[in-house]
Amino acid sequence: MISDEAPATPYLEVAVCAPIEHPLTYAPPPEAAILQPGQRLLVPLGKRQITGYLLACQQQPPVVGAKIRPALAVLDPEPLFPAAMIPFFRWIADYYHHPIGEIIQSALPSGLDRRSVPVIELTAAGTQALMAPPSAEETPVWLPELLARGELSPATSARIIKQREGPFGRWRRRGWLQLGHRLRAEKVRPKTETVALPLASPTTTGQRQQQPSLKPSETKTLALLWELAGAEQQSAVPRRELTRQYPGAGRALKGLTAHGLVELSQRRLFRDPLGEPPPFFTKPAQLTAEQQAVLAAIQPAVAGGRYAPFLLHGVTGSGKTEVYLQAAATALAQGRQVLVLVPEIALATQLEGHFCSRFGDIVALLHSGLAAGARFDQWSLLLAGQAQIAIGARSAIFAPLPNPGLIIVDEEHDPAYKQEDQPRYNARDLAVLRGLQQQATVILGSATPAVASFHQAQAGKFKLLTMAKRVEDRPLPTVEIIDLQEVKTVSGRPPLFSPQLVKALKENLAGGRQSLVFLNRRGFANLMLCKDCGRPIQCQHCQVSLTLHKKRGQLLCHHCGFHLPRDVVCPHCRSGTLVAAGFGTERLEEELTRLLPAARIARLDQDTSRDRRRYLAVLKAVRDQEIDVLIGTQMITKGHHFPQVTLVGIVWADAGLGIPDYKAAERTFQLLTQVSGRAGRGEHPGRVIVQTLQADHYSVSLAQAHDYQGLYQREIALRRRLGFPPFGRLINLRLDGENEQRCQELAAGLGAIARRQQPAGVQVLGPAPAPLARLRGRYRWQLLLKGAEVAAIHTLCRGICAEFAKLPGASTVKLSLDVDPENMV
Ligand code: ADP
Ligand code: ZN
Ligand code: ZN
Repeated sequence: MISDEAPATPYLEVAVCAPIEHPLTYAPPPEAAILQPGQRLLVPLGKRQITGYLLACQQQPPVVGAKIRPALAVLDPEPLFPAAMIPFFRWIADYYHHPIGEIIQSALPSGLDRRSVPVIELTAAGTQALMAPPSAEETPVWLPELLARGELSPATSARIIKQREGPFGRWRRRGWLQLGHRLRAEKVRPKTETVALPLASPTTTGQRQQQPSLKPSETKTLALLWELAGAEQQSAVPRRELTRQYPGAGRALKGLTAHGLVELSQRRLFRDPLGEPPPFFTKPAQLTAEQQAVLAAIQPAVAGGRYAPFLLHGVTGSGKTEVYLQAAATALAQGRQVLVLVPEIALATQLEGHFCSRFGDIVALLHSGLAAGARFDQWSLLLAGQAQIAIGARSAIFAPLPNPGLIIVDEEHDPAYKQEDQPRYNARDLAVLRGLQQQATVILGSATPAVASFHQAQAGKFKLLTMAKRVEDRPLPTVEIIDLQEVKTVSGRPPLFSPQLVKALKENLAGGRQSLVFLNRRGFANLMLCKDCGRPIQCQHCQVSLTLHKKRGQLLCHHCGFHLPRDVVCPHCRSGTLVAAGFGTERLEEELTRLLPAARIARLDQDTSRDRRRYLAVLKAVRDQEIDVLIGTQMITKGHHFPQVTLVGIVWADAGLGIPDYKAAERTFQLLTQVSGRAGRGEHPGRVIVQTLQADHYSVSLAQAHDYQGLYQREIALRRRLGFPPFGRLINLRLDGENEQRCQELAAGLGAIARRQQPAGVQVLGPAPAPLARLRGRYRWQLLLKGAEVAAIHTLCRGICAEFAKLPGASTVKLSLDVDPENMV
């Protein structure tokens, strides 16, 4: 029998915002409202009151006879995330060994806690008591408002609580008043813009019997609108785009509306972080044969509504975006939502333009560039179903979509998907998991898939789709390799710019085309050596050399920000003469300015892009062709589409090969291919010049040949031999602390525990000092667990952590886990 009465829910499973691994159980709060999973609660924990998230209402206590305290209050009237995401959070907490409450907290838009404010409420007893007016000196000015509304505004409440005004305390003790919590009212008001939709095609209008006599400007505007709206499949076009292309369109639209040929409406407008509306993109008239073939596989899967993972291996410029857009259209047609992840928020802006142009105002952007209010606003739109497409960087994997039908991970190989901070999740892997849990199609797209992803495709876990050609048969760029060892110089040291690269840059400049110059190292010189004793100047807190930043006049640590003035004396021998060695992007800029005095040069790296506005402004200047040469670090390699860039110079291709990381070769190949892929995306073919000291390294020569398969075969053979992912799983246990001696002892203790518990089939490597053995003043050790069996290494990890916590002095160091580490340094 099903009763109409909602059953009592005596036990609440709550994930608390505290370092507690498992959810706790509470009884419902005294003033029980409707309780729904996903709501925030205020709960007691020891003597504290903290926030928790309701995961489930249960009939049975988790532990029979346990003492269960009631929750104190319900903080939000509505859930903050869909209940369908709770299994997702549980899985993440378990797999990444991180407290579930903290996982949820970090998933929700920040600033939420600040947004919940206390208000003074009138209780039933208070209503009775205060209706008869109390004595005059006891009548505070806010009493009428309280009686009329039953509560006071957050602002008034805050003032009264802070200043303990009037009879507040007394009345509260008598039970006349109580404190409630409200979400602060949303201040962000959406912007709108005018969009136009054609109601008739220009040709049918021309043939009609009683055709309205159109002015030439109206005929022209209608034709333009028809074309921009995508001919047969119409979508509305912003008025600003029409007037941009044809200034007479503004006036003509009025006439066309009067004739009933065009419909004007208002649409919500998102601004990019620069405050500019996103660019408008038209739908291509026809798909390429490869796009058609790929969509023929994806669309039925999306329509089928079940979990279906695809790896879309499409070379740079093959038109992956259009595939995403059309797959998204299918998911929306099923009444489901779409989640799009990009590695970097500047790319979100670009993709956002594509999605807004196609789908209008159902797109929400989630990224850290938005102010807290705006981010919460976007979150609410998704939660309420008013927006159905979420686009964002890594953390957007937590977008509150109740029923996503399609999850896209663009540039899926990018290490930026790994969060290098607790909780250290990988959004790409979580996308696949979320797709599985919520029965969605997942597309992982890349020109250079991660070796692990490609292996999954080979093993049949993902379906592999390939687009090997650029659209409109544009050729892939030609790649020339310059062996720096063979370039003769006066000093005997390799030059920054080989004569070949300089010549090519000059020719490109003369031809009025744009160039990119890439070096994955910022600063002017990355090593400062003492001329007298020969020792490098190091950071006082980290075991690294300081980098010279000439413009700032500083020697800077790239890890902790520690800096010294340029003219510091050697701390070892007090000599005053330091010589700069090595080079970075700042030095390239100086050198290029000398070599190409007429060129307009810009630089993008962490130094120049600290200010987001400047960063986006530089990207825009490149797009608008106000820059001839753009110098940059990996920031410029990611999927940007600059059609006029025809030359890419890679200054030192093998820079990353010396890093002690099993992924070094894979990364190098990906970087070279991605940065090469920026060349020749428009009408003119591209050319890439790669300078290297290791011309015979396979990651360099295979990138030259655009040979992804070759790279994959080499890497996978290597990893199989060494038992590295995808053949073995890794967990890196990192330990750091302030006291050198104690860290070393505890690391040894950690190693001993690991070896004692070590089951067959799991390797324990270390403990060893981390490659960066001292960072921000803390000594660092690591212990690596490696094994083919996922369950075995996770069980071992759990066992080690539990036993380690009991070691004397364990609380003086920090033990943190990195599951599936991307970065071994
Ligand atoms: P990718 O992401 O694969 O590197 P993009 O999606 O950026 O490539 O597409 C590259 C360029 O090709 C873009 O300018 C895009 O508008 C254009 N394009 C995509 N599909 C087509 C098509 N079917 N016909 C013509 N141009 C297209
Ligand atoms: Zn010295
Ligand atoms: Zn430092």
